[in-house]
Amino acid sequence: MKPIFDVIDAEIERSLAELFELLRIPSVSARGENMRPCAEALARHAQSVGLDAELLESSGPPALLATSPHLQGAPTLLFYGHYDVHPPEPLDAWTTPPFEPTRREGRIYARGAGDNKGQHFAHLKAVDVVRRIRGSLPLNVVLFVDGEEEVGSPHLPELVLRHSDRLRADVAVTADGSFDASGKPCVVFGVRGMLYVELRARGARRDLHSGNFGGLAPNPAWRLVELLSAIRRADGCVTIPGFEESVRPLTRAERSALDALPFPGGLLREMGVDRFAGDPALSPWEKLLCRPTANVAGIVSGWTGSGPKTIVPASATAKMDFRLVPDQDPDRLFDALVSHASTLGFGDVDIKKLQAWPPSRTPLDDPFGRAAIRAVERAWGVAPLVYPSLGASLPHFLFTRELGMPSVLVPYANPDQSNHAPNENLTIEAFRRGIRTSAALMLEVAGIRG
Ligand SMILES: [Zn+2]
Repeated sequence: MKPIFDVIDAEIERSLAELFELLRIPSVSARGENMRPCAEALARHAQSVGLDAELLESSGPPALLATSPHLQGAPTLLFYGHYDVHPPEPLDAWTTPPFEPTRREGRIYARGAGDNKGQHFAHLKAVDVVRRIRGSLPLNVVLFVDGEEEVGSPHLPELVLRHSDRLRADVAVTADGSFDASGKPCVVFGVRGMLYVELRARGARRDLHSGNFGGLAPNPAWRLVELLSAIRRADGCVTIPGFEESVRPLTRAERSALDALPFPGGLLREMGVDRFAGDPALSPWEKLLCRPTANVAGIVSGWTGSGPKTIVPASATAKMDFRLVPDQDPDRLFDALVSHASTLGFGDVDIKKLQAWPPSRTPLDDPFGRAAIRAVERAWGVAPLVYPSLGASLPHFLFTRELGMPSVLVPYANPDQSNHAPNENLTIEAFRRGIRTSAALMLEVAGIRG
C-alpha cells in the first residue's frame, strides 16, 4: 500500500483543486438547481480516471453510474454517494460564501465539502492512483452517485431496480456521515428502517363552542390520544400485533460489538437530560441502534395559542415515525397498524403511509465487511469502531434486500463537519485519509476470491 499512499499524499493539492471545481457548483436538490451540470462535471472526472460514465435518468435529477473496464472473475465493489447538497441558508451565518470553497486552518469550507462531495470524490481519486500505480484496477468498480439524497431519494428505488444488473456487486460501500467524535474511524454494518405515518381523527365539520356543544360533540383530540395509547404502552412496549415478535434477536457477535463501543455519555449532555429513556435493562447502544421505536413526531389540534379559547376542535393530526430493525417490514407493519386500530374500534381515524424504508443489516462476519474493517485499519493505522447498525435510516435495503449484497457504511468526514449547517467543512486530513481508505478498500476487496 505504501507506494499508493505516497502518491495520494504527494498529489493532495491537485485532488483538492479538482474537488473545488465540484464544490463551486450549487447543486441544491431541494430547489432542483444546477443538478445536471454537477452530474456532468462528475461524469467528466470519472471518465478522466478511466471509468465509463453514464447519467441514469428518471423524472428527478440524473444519477451517475460510472464503471471500470470489466475484469472477468474479479470481485465488484460498488461505491454509493450523492452529489446533491442541502440548501446553504442562512447565508449571513457563513464566514465565506458556501459555493466559493475556501481553505482555513487545514479545512475546506464549502456546502457539500463533507456531505457528500468530498467523500465520493475520494473514491474517484483512489481509482485514479491505484490504476496508475498498478497499471490497471485489480477489481471491478461501480460508482453510483445519487442526485436526490438530501430530499429523501424519491427516485432511487426505481433507478436501482431498473439498472439492477449493472449495480449488482459483491459489496456496497457508502462513505457518508462522520467518523467518531474520539477521532476513531467507524465501520457500520446496518441502518434502522423507517415507517412514517400520519394519523388524523375528525369530529364535527368545524370547530365548535365548547359551552354550546361540549358533551355532545365528539372530541377528535381525545380520540387521537386514545389511539396513540393503544399503540404504545407507558412502559415503552409497542402493542401492534407482530411488532415485537418480528425483531430478530441479536447475534452473539452483534452483542459483543455493542458492548465494545464506548459509553455514549456525550449524548446525555447533548440532549440536556440526566438519564436515557426506555428499558433500563437494555444498554443505551442497543436501544439506539438495534431496537425499534414508536416515536410521536408531533400532534396538532385545536387551540394552542396564548390565553383561553373554548372550542371542541374539528380535527386532530399526529405524525409518527417508527424506526425499524431486522426483520421488521414497514409495509407489513403499516397493515398491522391499520388493522390494530380498526380492531380496537378506531376505524374512523385516517392512517396514511408517508414513507416506508425497510431496515438493513449485514452480518458482522461477512467477508466483504471484514475486508472493509481491514482496509480502514490500513488507511488510518488504528482499528475502527464496529457498529452493527446506525440509529438513523438510509435506503441501504436497496443493496441488501433488493440486490442481495452486503452493505457497509464507512464515514470519511470529521465529526465537526457542520453538515446541513452554515460553515460546512471537511478537514484536508479527513479527505486525504478518505482517499487512502478507498484505495485500501479496493485492494482488500480484490483479495477476496469467491
Ligand atoms: Zn446530508
